[in-house]
Amino acid sequence: MAEILDLVRKNDKYRAETLNLQASENRLSPDVKEALSSDLASRYSHIMPDGNNSYGGTSLFEQIYEKARSDVQSLYNVRYADIRPTGGHIAVLAAIKSLTKKGDTIYAIGPEGGGYPGYQEEYIPEMLSLRRESIPYLPEQQEIDYDEMAFAVKRNRPNLIVLGQSAFVRPYDLARISEIAEESGSRILYDASHVMGLIAGGKFQPDAAKRADIMVGSTHKSFFGPQGGLILTNDLDLVPKIEKNLTWMTMDNMHPNRVAALGIAAREMLKHGKKYAALVEKNSYNLGRALDQHGISVRFGPWFSKSHQVLLSPSGDRDFIAFSKELERNGIIVDRDGRVGTSEISRMGFSGMDEVADLISEAHAGHNVLKRVTDLVSLLKIEFWR
Ligand SMILES: *Cc1c(COP(=O)(O)O)cnc(C)c1O
Repeated sequence: MAEILDLVRKNDKYRAETLNLQASENRLSPDVKEALSSDLASRYSHIMPDGNNSYGGTSLFEQIYEKARSDVQSLYNVRYADIRPTGGHIAVLAAIKSLTKKGDTIYAIGPEGGGYPGYQEEYIPEMLSLRRESIPYLPEQQEIDYDEMAFAVKRNRPNLIVLGQSAFVRPYDLARISEIAEESGSRILYDASHVMGLIAGGKFQPDAAKRADIMVGSTHKSFFGPQGGLILTNDLDLVPKIEKNLTWMTMDNMHPNRVAALGIAAREMLKHGKKYAALVEKNSYNLGRALDQHGISVRFGPWFSKSHQVLLSPSGDRDFIAFSKELERNGIIVDRDGRVGTSEISRMGFSGMDEVADLISEAHAGHNVLKRVTDLVSLLKIEFWR
């Protein structure tokens, strides 16, 4: 026991001294952390259709739950927000199950376009007995091939079109997709897992919840929250289905500590989201440009990115695993898929992207910049919370 606690403390110290550029991660405010490790971490709450809770001692938590729910609804300007999913993947499962039945066809972006692996045939489609087709995609432009998509959707009339990617730097033409979907009676699920924090701040694709039948996403990537998921919709007819597909179908305990932490994060977003999202967008563009100038080629210049991540070009001798390990030795953390994220450094109010690009290129060139990285990180502190 003591050994694990010791490792946890070491990890806290280690991560506090490193520069985190992982697109899937962010940093929690002290308030959010306090809620996460509160008494609520070992509690249950389940409000039944008749309004009674199946558990006792929940009256304070019920106030927290209602407040968190209503803040998330205002943040995304939607009629219904479900804050119970314990992860983005759970939110996706419940949402897809609410929009399809066995044997239905769904369209999703494939891995070559940066699509989420969960939408590949052998995962969610297999679990829910769905047929899966790929949305025609132009990976070189990181864009849907809209004409081909219109043609394919018209011919195959899928029940559901799933949008959203894990390597996600460019918003869609949602007006066009809505038209395509409407013609063939297809529903739209927008998986905003990576960009929930940007949308909350009015950036990237602010009309996603309005245009889609359901929008889902993770609460911990570009968003300020603890790990978890959200389901958002304006279609109140879908609500009973969503509710049925959560408790006892895809999950049980909603993790009341997580819900409280999420509520606090939603408040932080309501207060600071616009400034944060604007900084993330600016930092991504500046980092893309600066990396490119430092000889680390980034895809999709001259615009590079409209989101919280830039995608490195796989050309030349770049092996993303080796690249990530070189950086890690120098205290810079990136994933092993060639994504470099700006959420966390933006959360620290930092905008020195030239310096970040310089550190990355020096580390990649085999120079030791660990001390420079630690010195830089020691000057950063979390912003956008109170
Ligand atoms: C990360 C991700 C998920 C899964 O979210 P978790 O919160 O990790 O469960 C789902 N869809 C997309 C597009 C993602 O990038």
